Amino acid sequence: MTAGTVIFRVLSFCASKRSSCYRETKLGMKSLPYFCRGEVIRGFGRGSKELGIPTANFPDSVVDNLPADISTGIYYGWACVGNGDVYKMVMSIGWNPYYKNTKKSMETHVIHTFKEDFYGEILSVVMVGYIRPERSYDSLEALIAAINNDIEEAKVKLELPEHLKLREDNFFTSTPILSSAPPATTASTSQTIMNGH
Ligand code: ADP
Ligand code: MG
Repeated sequence: MTAGTVIFRVLSFCASKRSSCYRETKLGMKSLPYFCRGEVIRGFGRGSKELGIPTANFPDSVVDNLPADISTGIYYGWACVGNGDVYKMVMSIGWNPYYKNTKKSMETHVIHTFKEDFYGEILSVVMVGYIRPERSYDSLEALIAAINNDIEEAKVKLELPEHLKLREDNFFTSTPILSSAPPATTASTSQTIMNGH
């Protein structure tokens, strides 16, 4: 795969120019914090893992339930795989080129090194804040640098007391999550969308 192909394939996690006149409150903030969970499905092999930034994809059932005011772009928050620990995360919400940009995707990078992949597990997330809108980049290096900036920004912002308390939210502990449960049960309980308001 050429660098150009990789750039194209990871554009749904693409970054944006920081704009001094951009105001966080203007975009996608009304529904935050936003809680949701769903099964981790296979993405479209955009090469995220090869770049050191794997992104766990949610199924359409989760994406299609996003409130209208949650715009595309990069978010930060908390995430938990199965009934494991809660870690910081960054999430990209973007238009999916695979479906000719008619479908959105939600891709979560959990800021933690896992021993193994967790396809099929239930990922629970709370989106806490918005970092920036999407943008395409001229080089792979610029794209990776932007994502790493997002990760650093998420790490710092999530240390704020009002954000730290969401890590302890009952959402992450109250729901029994059994990855070995029969599919019907898993589907009916795991893909419930919960708005934090
Ligand atoms: P895909 O195109 O299938 O989404 P990626 O290259 O984006 O492939 O890798 C995503 C997968 O990597 C996730 O579904 C998950 O199983 C695994 N993974 C391992 N570590 C992480 C992590 N820290 N954050 C997100 N996903 C991770
Ligand atoms: Mg992915």
